[in-house]
Amino acid sequence: MKMTLLYIILATMITACGSTGNSASSESVAADPTSTTSQVASRAAFDGQAALALARQQCDFGPRVPATPAHAKCAEWLTSTLKASCDTVIVQQGNVTTGQGKKLGIKNIIGVINPDASQRLLLLAHWDTRPWADNDPDKANHTKPVMGANDGASGVAVLLQLARQLKTDSTKLGIDIVLVDAEDMGITDDEESWGLGTQYWTQHPHVAGYKPLFGILLDMVGAPDARFSREYYSMYYASGFTDAVWRCAGGEHFIQADGGAVTDDHVFINRAGIPCVDIIDMRTDSETGFCPVWHTVDDTMEHISPATLAEVGQALLNVIASLEQ
Ligand SMILES: [Zn+2]
Repeated sequence: MKMTLLYIILATMITACGSTGNSASSESVAADPTSTTSQVASRAAFDGQAALALARQQCDFGPRVPATPAHAKCAEWLTSTLKASCDTVIVQQGNVTTGQGKKLGIKNIIGVINPDASQRLLLLAHWDTRPWADNDPDKANHTKPVMGANDGASGVAVLLQLARQLKTDSTKLGIDIVLVDAEDMGITDDEESWGLGTQYWTQHPHVAGYKPLFGILLDMVGAPDARFSREYYSMYYASGFTDAVWRCAGGEHFIQADGGAVTDDHVFINRAGIPCVDIIDMRTDSETGFCPVWHTVDDTMEHISPATLAEVGQALLNVIASLEQ
């Protein structure tokens, strides 16, 4: 994904999951963690340690760069892992063209829970990792691949663990978990070179006429000091849903403030007519707009926190519970 230099100031304050927001200036917003962190009583709490193990399992394959053996092996593992939790798993194979003009085979891996339910929630994360650590402080690393513990594995791990918990703690809602490929092969100044797997999926949805209530994208959701502010395009296309998700979230990492604009998979989902929110770690105190290990060879498991994964997973469980009401 890529940060653009576009910031906006909005003035919405969220108080608690399912409540109506009060108006206040964004400068004066102070989230009350105690009002939002509790899990919904009828469900088990999201297991951050289990999600951490699922992130580690992905990294154990090595960087999941498209068209490499590690990518192929991880695809098989993701498919079998989703099959253990979902009613149906679809492996969508397609061909895309990279920003360098090369043809590339991709795999989007889709887990479907409650296929007959009419009310559906779309959940996405990219499972590929970037071929080049081109933000590494050492230029010698710019041609090396990124491990993607945070940028890839973290979002996927939360969704895999969510599916596992919904297997034993079932929902009436239809859930579609779409693990998209080839998000992170983009090049600067070419917006369309990002999110290639997602762009393919929007042109070839796994169900004809697919129309979920809305979508939530997870990207870089594992840093111990992650900051999830309301991303610009999420607010532009889906402000009501973004506010609702932030109402359902809590803890120290969800910031009740508006953040920068990121060209990420959700932009293509929104363009396709599905309102989609991006939960992504954005930093106002870094040059890149992202965490320090972003697109470096240090995006590894020692920089992933089970507490952050748990906070994001719990937010999703709370969203699902609120939609069931
Ligand atoms: Zn990336």
